Amino acid sequence: MKPELGPELATRLRESAEKAAAAGEPDREALSVLRASGLLATAVPRAHGGAGGDGAEVNRVVCEIAAVNPSAAIIAFQHFAVSARIAEWGTEAQKLRVLPRLADGSLLAASSWSENGAGAAKQNLASTGVRGPGGDWVLNGAKTFTTGAAVADLYLVLVRTGAEAGPQSAYGAAGQTFFLVGADNPGLVPDLGLDLAGMRGSATGLVALDGCVVPDEDRLGPEGNAASVIAGVRETGATLGAVSAGIAQAAFDLALTHARSRGLLELGAVRHRLVALATRLESVRATVERAGARTAADPGLATLHSKLHAAAAAEEICLDVARMLGSAGYVAGSAADRLLADARAVGLMGPTNDLCRELVAMSWTA
Ligand SMILES: Cc1cc2nc3c(=O)[nH]c(=O)nc-3n(C[C@H](O)[C@H](O)[C@H](O)COP(=O)(O)OP(=O)(O)OC[C@H]3O[C@@H](n4cnc5c(N)ncnc54)[C@H](O)[C@@H]3O)c2cc1C
Repeated sequence: MKPELGPELATRLRESAEKAAAAGEPDREALSVLRASGLLATAVPRAHGGAGGDGAEVNRVVCEIAAVNPSAAIIAFQHFAVSARIAEWGTEAQKLRVLPRLADGSLLAASSWSENGAGAAKQNLASTGVRGPGGDWVLNGAKTFTTGAAVADLYLVLVRTGAEAGPQSAYGAAGQTFFLVGADNPGLVPDLGLDLAGMRGSATGLVALDGCVVPDEDRLGPEGNAASVIAGVRETGATLGAVSAGIAQAAFDLALTHARSRGLLELGAVRHRLVALATRLESVRATVERAGARTAADPGLATLHSKLHAAAAAEEICLDVARMLGSAGYVAGSAADRLLADARAVGLMGPTNDLCRELVAMSWTA
């Protein structure tokens, strides 16, 4: 059975979006409801207790969540991304231990790759993993912008474990390795000190790795070759563009409701502006669906294009909606204001839109 958002959870997450944005903190109660909803099973294979969803399913679920709560959607997106990476690269022991718990919501996963100065392409990581004589790894460093920090139970952490010499990569670099680190590891310290303009309920914060000891069996994928794990991500068709699609839908609904309630649909100019918005929204949905369907000749490229288009178009749609709402759209903390700030985040998230452009351009010279 496909996991569904359902009207009750939708209402709960919508209310929580408002509360979390005002507080600048995640709504832990709403996250508990999300954990219990069954939705977190989406990207876990059926053999491990999940729903066996592909990129298209991930996009559908993420878009539905984003339409009511964009912050919860990016938390869910990271959870799905980590679930998929474990399903793809995990050892049998890792899959047996972790996947059923990611599916039933008892574990919420986050990704901790970014750090100050590493660059959007994560090529200059300062955080390190050093293997001790007993085979365990000791991780040290400071991660920034981890979505789900302090609310996640499991972090997919990217560190440098060896020399950067090796095959060139556009995203990630040679000598980098992924580790799965539990929130109960005393060497991993999350901090919600970031005060973001948008996505204020996403628990996007800092993660310090302070002599964090991790056994080698918690390494995910090949030592020194995390870049190959990263490169496969876009091939699945799962895209943050789905978050943009949900945000754009919410903004359009806001404009339509406003126009209806003020009797503005009588005006041809307003009707036509709404139709123009609906057409752009349709194009966003179409590119996200095409990425998930993996029908393009190069599915990875289609995923990059969908993110580029969806993120930029959603931002424009939100700005136009704020303008259409007139003075009501200019109130700080209003729904239009929040959606615009949330929409901006998607272009800044992994891979950033600039990096997506670079990855597309590189495909022409490869
Ligand atoms: C709301 C939010 C949530 C996030 N969640 C996570 C998360 O869960 N986990 C995680 O690891 N990270 C997360 N990030 C970080 C994000 O993925 C970025 O990769 C990271 O912040 C890069 O930072 P930057 O753009 O400031 O980098 P900088 O390298 O300082 O980039 C500055 C500018 O240059 C551009 N640029 C940099 N390098 C390149 C390049 N090689 N090619 C083209 N353009 C380039 C960037 O796009 C940007 O516009 C999140 C960010 C935000 C805003």
